[in-house]
Formats: sequence, C-alpha cells, structure tokens
Amino acid sequence: MSDFEKRRGRLRRLVRQAGADALLVTNFTNVTYLTGFTGDDSYLLVAQEGDLLLSDPRYEEQIGEECPGLPTFIRKPGDVLLDVACQELNKAQLASLLIEGDSMTVAAYEKLRSELTATQLGTSRGQVELLRTIKDKDEIALLRRAVEIAQRVFISIRAQLSAHQTEREIANELERQIRSLGGAGCSFNPIVAVGPRAALPHATPGASEVGQSPFVLIDWGALAGGYRSDLTRVLLTSKIPAKFAKVYRTVLAAQTAAIHAMKPGVMVSEIDRIARAVVADAGMGKRFNHGLGHGIGLDIHEAPRLGKNQDRPLEAGMVVTVEPGVYFPGWGGVRIEDDILITRDGCELLSSLPRTMDENCVELLRH
Ligand code: ZN
Ligand code: ZN
Repeated sequence: MSDFEKRRGRLRRLVRQAGADALLVTNFTNVTYLTGFTGDDSYLLVAQEGDLLLSDPRYEEQIGEECPGLPTFIRKPGDVLLDVACQELNKAQLASLLIEGDSMTVAAYEKLRSELTATQLGTSRGQVELLRTIKDKDEIALLRRAVEIAQRVFISIRAQLSAHQTEREIANELERQIRSLGGAGCSFNPIVAVGPRAALPHATPGASEVGQSPFVLIDWGALAGGYRSDLTRVLLTSKIPAKFAKVYRTVLAAQTAAIHAMKPGVMVSEIDRIARAVVADAGMGKRFNHGLGHGIGLDIHEAPRLGKNQDRPLEAGMVVTVEPGVYFPGWGGVRIEDDILITRDGCELLSSLPRTMDENCVELLRH
C-alpha cells in the first residue's frame, strides 16, 4: 500500500468517527498530501465506498503517472469543477458529506447545499491538517533534503559575501543556487535584511548593501520534492557592537533552552513559554513579538504553531521550526531559526549550521 493510500485510510477513519460517509477535500495542498498529485484545480472525494479525484484534461497524463490506480474523473474542457463535483456527489448518493470549512468559500458551500438535496452537509476543520502534522518516513527524508540544500547554498553564499552586495542580490543568488542543486526554488520569498532592516521580521530584500551595517539577517529555505525548509542566521561582518552581543546571546540561549525541552508529550505552549522566559529575564520580553515556531512540510507555515495559546502536545514525527527573535526598531534584530524533528524520546535538529556568534562572524570579500 502506498503512503498516499495509508493517508487516505487514516482520513477515512476520522471521517467515520465524525459519523459521516465522506469528506470533499478542496484544499489543493491537502489533495496533494492525500494523492501525490502535484497539480492544482482538483478536488478529492474520500468516501467509505471509495475515493475519487476530480480534475481536468490538462492533468490527465500527470495523474496517471503520479497517482496510479486512483479512480479519477476528468471533466470536459469548459466544465466547471464545482458543477462536476455536484454531479458526481449526487451520483454517489451520500447520506452525509463533510466539507473542508477552512478552504471552501461560502458561495461554493451554498451551491453544494442547493444541489445536494439528499445529502446532509457538515463542516470539518483541520482534519487533513491534523494528519499532516505527523510526518512519515518519506516526508522526513524530503524535509532532510530541503534542509540540506538550504544549508549548502547558505555556506556558499556566506563564503562569497562582499561589502557592496545588496539584499536583493543575495536573495536572487539563494534562488539560483537552490535550483542548481536540484531544488525547485526558495520555499518562500527569502528575507535578507541588513542592520536596521532586520528589525522588520518580514523585511523584503532591497537595495541596502551588506557593508552598510555590522550584521545581516538571512531567513531562507529550499523547496525540494514538494517539502519546505526554513532557517535563519545572522552573519556578523565587522566588529560586534556590545548591544548586539547581548541580544544575540539572549536569543541563542532562548532557542537552546526551548530545543532542550522538546520531546513528545510536552505542550507546545510550554516550549514557547520556556523561550520567552529567557528573553524576559534579559529584560527584552516585549521585543520578542511573534510566535516561537511553526510546523513545516508541504506548506511553509503549517500546524502545529508553537505559541502561547496553543494547547497541543508535541508528538513524534512532528517537524517544527524554533525561531525566537528580538527586535529594536531603527537598530535591527536577531532571529535564529532551526528545523527540528520530534523523535520518540526527544528531538533531532535537522539543520546543522553553526549557531554561536563567533561561528557566524565572516570576512567580507574585497571586490
Ligand atoms: Zn524563517
Ligand atoms: Zn519560520
């Protein structure tokens, strides 16, 4: 049985537990997770009686290759996906159907309600996303590769850093080198922020040059085999200002304390609290103004979120980022981010780039 069949089997059990006959999966990433089909514009019906992928002629051949054996309905050119879904759902004569409440529009829902007169509709929230939080062996291997590519590219860029390089040039170089190593590209628009611009947790790379400030923050990742890595390092390019050293050590201590506490059964809110306490003890609590981390996988941000108001325990097979940050407007910021796999008895860092301040001091090339 393929991983995809196993995933659909698990989902079918959840649907049955919810007392429904079927679930219509309309989130395209969830469709990919459950079938291996990497295209868009397709729905998947997961039913006790059997599954059905609804797609269009552009994808017919690709589906044959990516999802051998999966029953598929290819709509005619010009037919609308939702109309076809209504027809096929009526044919299936379901007594009850769940829809994905987090992805379906109100208009689509109303159409289903008016067309499926014999079917009782219910809403499912986050069921597939819940399955996606626990990575299987193949997914972990793909994430390892996405981390590996991101690290190799960073090491190369770090070795070539020069004073007149702009944030934008570094971002372009990340993309180019990830592709040349076999990745599909960056896993998200990378953040490259020189000095004061690092105070913006989501800075867009611009024309600032590396030599304009003693430090540059790079938050990047690679997309490979559909999976996304997510890392952050701050590189020091000249004499370290005293304030910077204090901020850096605090952020690193917060990250280290959080990682040490990570194992199955510990609540994610507790991990967030541990990191936040270290920053607060250093008198910078208010400067750590975002969540501690997030799941990574097919999406760059997915469940579980590591934050204050999250009350789920870590489980073996989760892969999450841990990325405390401290920011001072007008001055800059420090964030250190790594990707961590929760194992049966603790956790494993998937990323291995050095994290200490000394190890992140670089000589700029002169040219
Ligand atoms: Zn990041
Ligand atoms: Zn992140």
